[in-house]
Amino acid sequence: MKKRPAPEQNERPEQTTGGGADLPSLEEVEALLPGEVRSILHNLQVHQMELEMQNEELRYTQQVLSDSREKYSRLFESAPVGYCNLDKDGIVKECNQTLARMLGHPKEKIIRFPFASFVLAEDTPILNHMLHQPTTETEYQIRLLDPQRRCTHALVRMHRFKSDRDGERRSMAALTDISRLNEMATQLKTQGLAIENIQEAVCIADNGSRILFVNRAFEEVTGLGREGVLGRRSDQLLFEQEPEELRSDVWRKLQESGRWRGKIRQQRADGRDFPAQLSISTINDDRGYPQYYVAVFTDITHEEMNREHLNRLAFFDSLTGLPNRQLFFDRLQQEIARARRERERERDTFGLLYMDLDRFKNINDTLGHSVGDELLVKTGERLRALLRENDTVARMGGDEFIVLLPHMLTHRDATRIAGKILRAMERPFELAGASYHIGTSIGFSRYPHDGLDSDTLVKHADIAMYRAKANGSNGFHALNDSLTERIHDRVELEHDLRQAFAQQALYLVYQPQIELATGRCCGAEALLRWEHPHRGMIPTPEFIGIAEENGQIIDIGYWVLRKTAEQFQAWAHAGSAPDIVWANLSPRQFLHRDLVHQIRQILDATGMPPERLGIEVTENAAMPNLDYSIEPLKGLRAMGIRVSIDDFGAGFSSFGHLRHLPLDGLKIDRQFIARLPGEANDSAITSAIIAMAQALKLTLVAEGVETVQQMDFLRARGCDIVQGFYLAKPLDPRHLATYFKELESTPPPGPVPDRPNP
Ligand code: C2E
Ligand code: CA
Ligand code: CA
Repeated sequence: MKKRPAPEQNERPEQTTGGGADLPSLEEVEALLPGEVRSILHNLQVHQMELEMQNEELRYTQQVLSDSREKYSRLFESAPVGYCNLDKDGIVKECNQTLARMLGHPKEKIIRFPFASFVLAEDTPILNHMLHQPTTETEYQIRLLDPQRRCTHALVRMHRFKSDRDGERRSMAALTDISRLNEMATQLKTQGLAIENIQEAVCIADNGSRILFVNRAFEEVTGLGREGVLGRRSDQLLFEQEPEELRSDVWRKLQESGRWRGKIRQQRADGRDFPAQLSISTINDDRGYPQYYVAVFTDITHEEMNREHLNRLAFFDSLTGLPNRQLFFDRLQQEIARARRERERERDTFGLLYMDLDRFKNINDTLGHSVGDELLVKTGERLRALLRENDTVARMGGDEFIVLLPHMLTHRDATRIAGKILRAMERPFELAGASYHIGTSIGFSRYPHDGLDSDTLVKHADIAMYRAKANGSNGFHALNDSLTERIHDRVELEHDLRQAFAQQALYLVYQPQIELATGRCCGAEALLRWEHPHRGMIPTPEFIGIAEENGQIIDIGYWVLRKTAEQFQAWAHAGSAPDIVWANLSPRQFLHRDLVHQIRQILDATGMPPERLGIEVTENAAMPNLDYSIEPLKGLRAMGIRVSIDDFGAGFSSFGHLRHLPLDGLKIDRQFIARLPGEANDSAITSAIIAMAQALKLTLVAEGVETVQQMDFLRARGCDIVQGFYLAKPLDPRHLATYFKELESTPPPGPVPDRPNP
């Protein structure tokens, strides 16, 4: 509508008042007019006023109209919804700015164009369908395309009506952009699917703990159907099996940090329960108040089982099923802690029994490892059967077992238990179809008397066990104070021995051997000596034992051989060398892989003829395992070296094995000689060994000959060679040379005066 020019308000006063002096006023003119005219004029004036009033009203209405039109237009243009009017052919007659934005075109590129041109081709059938629907209202989703061919999802609500003006059918469409909504819906759907199909059981509850949702895994894991669960209280369901303290802990943690994680036991519908790892998170609303709780849990039965299995592997011996070393030390530690807590320092509170099988190595080596294993298993069974619930029996490794006796009251208790074990172990073991006596040695230590920490206690029990063994098989030994001191000594001694060896402070003495038939000094045995700077002479078996334990014996052993060879060469040059010089080989050295090669090198380097060197090995080293011993023995003999079995009769003699060993001689053990000739058994054994050696064509040496009676007995039985204090103590090289020469010149089968042991 075009605005008619309204009479300006300020025009009228100007016309009426601003006339000037030359124009008469209205009143003046009126007064000049006849009454008729004046009345007409008056009416006119009244009309004019009415008109002006009407005009005023009109202007007001126009203003209101224009205001609301503007308001409407602004609303129309900026509505969140796109609007357009379409004619019957679907041509856009009018549209708002929102739609223009949705379509990505300015309005002028939209109006007069078919609406279908802005719709994704696939969706135009929908549009056509809407345009030709007889119903007045339809609503569909269609996709719009912008010039960059980006797609907008729109919900189109179409209103069809007949135009008042021309009666034509038109349509008015309102389009809502639902791209975001669609996106969110898809996202929600995927998330929902993910939660539904996730492996973990999920349970979502509102802030009143009422369950709103559970997923499929929840149903599977718990065996509870969704319908039965929704609406129930999640805390009651999840923590049904748990004590009140845990529930309140969960609440406290949720309030503090919004999260909780832990292990629970969860019951299934069928009554079986299982361990579950549960985590709960709080979802807060916009104001920060808890709105939902999301609980996620998994059945960890398998993990627990695995852990248990690993536990068993880590803490139990796989062969015997007994606790292993580690678990034993754990328990020992606990026991010490308990005793300390209870301040039981004054009296013995608990004890350790360390035990080892006397013949295990023998069984293992001769009958094979599987039989050895069987023996260990059976030992474990016997021990377990003997001891009480809270005694710990553990396998320390090899054939060593240890028993922790908690709440042991007296020394006598321990002795009683050790006695029980010894008796149980005395019964023969059925192994591989035969029965064997094994024998056990047990050492005992107690807290706090023998040590305040686990290492010391175990070490002392171990040492006591060695004492028991040294005292003869199948025995029990408790540590005493002097022995405790000796342990400290031993540690010190080990250190000193290393130093002594490095500083060449070890030396050799040589004990002559006499051939009974001729009275000649036919040989000498090299024996190692160590004079400690403060302690004086250390008994040879004591420091050899240390060297064997720490492996030093290998180096020491080669040094002995080299020294012996050098000494032989020196004697040989002086014309005072016995036929053969014998050196002792420790079992460990005997099994050293390089042995034969090293000895050859020593002989090459010194020039000692191999047939002048003799090697003594104990039968324990040479016999139990022929597989290992035959090779080095053969190697040595192939070179021409003599090999003799030392201490024959003292170890696990197996006469059968003797046949298979490449040997030159036997040296009968001192213990049989000591009680000759009075002791009947020893005499019989000695005679038998001599006879056997003759039959096997082995040279027999008797050592430890201290009396003339012993020598006579041996000579009468046909023993070949004797060695002992009766003839000579071990001598230093110079004295040995003198001794040799004396006998060469005057062969007297008889005693020589004692010489000082160098
Ligand atoms: P073994 O090989 O049996 O040596 C004989 C031991 O008997 C020597 O003790 C010797 O001094 C001692 N003996 C000799 N005659 C008599 C006697 O008439 N009466 C008594 N009661 N004893 C006698 P030693 O020298 O103390 O050696 C002890 C053990 O130490 C040796 O026993 C041997 O097994 C070992 N040993 C000594 N030297 C070496 C060595 O260089 N290497 C290795 N591996 N072991 C050695
Ligand atoms: Ca020897
Ligand atoms: Ca010997």
